[in-house]
Amino acid sequence: MDNPGKFYITTPIYYVNARPHIGHTYTTIACDAIARRQRMLGVDTWFLTGTDEHGQKIERSAAAAGCTPREFADRISGEFRALWDRMGVTYDDFIRTTEPRHARGVQALFARLQERGYIYKGSYSGQYCVFDELYVDAAEPGAPCPECGRPTETVHEENYFFKLSAMQERLLKYYGEHPDFIRPETRRNEVVSFVRGGLRDLSVSRTSFKWGIPVPNDPKHVIYVWLDALANYMTALGFGSDDPKDRARLARYWPADVHMIGKEIVRFHCVYWPAFLMAADLPLPKSIIAHGWLLFEESKMSKSRGNIVRSETILDTLGQDALRYFLLREIVFGQDGSFSFDALVQRFNSDLANGIGNLASRTLSMIARYFGGEVPYPSASERAPADEAIGALAQQTITDFHAQFEQFQFSRALETAWSLVAAVNKYIVENEPWSVAERDDQDSRARLATILYTSAEALRVVTALVHPVIPEATAKIWTQLGLGEIRQMDLRELAWGQLQLGTRLGAVEAVFPRADKSMVERMQQMEQQRSAEITKTDETKAAAATQAETAPALADSSGGGVVEKITIDDFLKVELRVGQIKVAEKVKGADKLLRMEVDIGTEVRQIVAGIAKAYEPEKLVGRKVVIVANLQPRKLRGLESNGMIVAASLGDDGLPVLAGFLEDIPVGAKLK
Ligand SMILES: [Zn+2]
Repeated sequence: MDNPGKFYITTPIYYVNARPHIGHTYTTIACDAIARRQRMLGVDTWFLTGTDEHGQKIERSAAAAGCTPREFADRISGEFRALWDRMGVTYDDFIRTTEPRHARGVQALFARLQERGYIYKGSYSGQYCVFDELYVDAAEPGAPCPECGRPTETVHEENYFFKLSAMQERLLKYYGEHPDFIRPETRRNEVVSFVRGGLRDLSVSRTSFKWGIPVPNDPKHVIYVWLDALANYMTALGFGSDDPKDRARLARYWPADVHMIGKEIVRFHCVYWPAFLMAADLPLPKSIIAHGWLLFEESKMSKSRGNIVRSETILDTLGQDALRYFLLREIVFGQDGSFSFDALVQRFNSDLANGIGNLASRTLSMIARYFGGEVPYPSASERAPADEAIGALAQQTITDFHAQFEQFQFSRALETAWSLVAAVNKYIVENEPWSVAERDDQDSRARLATILYTSAEALRVVTALVHPVIPEATAKIWTQLGLGEIRQMDLRELAWGQLQLGTRLGAVEAVFPRADKSMVERMQQMEQQRSAEITKTDETKAAAATQAETAPALADSSGGGVVEKITIDDFLKVELRVGQIKVAEKVKGADKLLRMEVDIGTEVRQIVAGIAKAYEPEKLVGRKVVIVANLQPRKLRGLESNGMIVAASLGDDGLPVLAGFLEDIPVGAKLK
């Protein structure tokens, strides 16, 4: 099943647990640039993006934000879509895993795997990482997750299992026969050695939460989020539908030509997904391309580091072309790359403002001034070796750019295009058309025409090549060149010397005004303000309790003055124990208080604490906390509180943050 003349490309569907940031933008614009170029090559192209919305993590995040999982997913998914729309991303479809068309397709795939004998019912007891939605095999209770390092939780579940173990040899054979299936090479090698190490059957259903797609005929179970999510690449085309239109689209575009992913989800895409497809007897995608991480000034962007950069800041200042160009030019695709505002502004000025922007404005304004805005005739007699050299370089640039782009070497392809820009800018400086224009003889006039024709033609070539990467500015330059709509341009036919003589230029205006030095500072300030706003909205929802109704804190972080020293004996008077919250509920009439029943090993205590604005009671059940066990009982709102929960106190409002442990620890253990 191979469909020549079509091209189907996908981004990963983004998990709605996090707001869109520049890392998501990076993946999306890489796909957008590829899709735009395919269309310019006359290929029938389908570009899919979307959001992944199920799973326990979303259920918990929604509870923390005080809304339903559906409302939570709607909000974040909407933010992704709005950002792509604002950036003019040319996706053909946006799939959400909460849509009926997706659920129908996932259930059809599940049923198909069941019918073919690849899914069976079994039971699992062991460790589970909620963050990665992943079972951790052969681990001790509480062992850290091998993927993310967070503590795992012990679960006992009756589940459906997929016979992944049966696919090991078939997968290895497939990787061997299709060397381009996984790229780059380093990722491919990792996958091959992982599969060689042996595959265990994969649990593909959950009963521990509800927010997912039910297993067909067994709605107690929801389908494993990764089986659910991966299927989007087919359900979006119409897999599982009987509608002839959907079936035709599926037949037309599947298998995908490119699944673009980040390197952290390689295993799911390169092992599980092909295994599901093989078991279901469906065609496999042609290639899976993994890019590296986008670091911020050399360190990984993360919520906890607070160094997440949002695309909006750059869109508001330098515009989308600047962001697109920077990410594809600066980062060697496949490797980790670094983002910084300094580097962004530097690139913007050197390559866009002084590079292609300068080439366009000087060439077009001289044609306007000296030739009344009509592309002049390049004289045959007044031709110099320098003119021929530009023509030859442009022709070579076309060949090289295509070859490099095809290999996903965006950075090299852009470097190639900008060598031509630099060469033409140099050519203009050396040939001084402005001086030639001052001489009024026939030969000089012919020479001037040749120089400006050569410059304009080189500009046309570069503009066409890089349109998929910087669509806005190149569309403007194209119009200024008098060539109409750049989207109509057929990239297959691009060659030197096609600029029609006498073409009338459009109105000439600068496309990339230079950014001054204050721009970096401005963007940093916008970014700080933006993350402050976001933190504020998130935390007012999740937190805000005062010290007043909390039992006295052990250590007051807000003081900063001199604290009287105590002896070890004084400290030993305080009995600190590990407790586990069994019951947690709001206290009527007191919006800051929670009533809890806490198991401290020897007994279950009632403790009342002022943490209601920071923690949803449902989220606390099962959580291990530190208790001051030998505190005099006291009454809060008529309820006896027998002990105190240890928490840090944050900021002026004294937001409580519960103390906890990274390792698993038995209830009742003493702290000393
Ligand atoms: Zn994990």
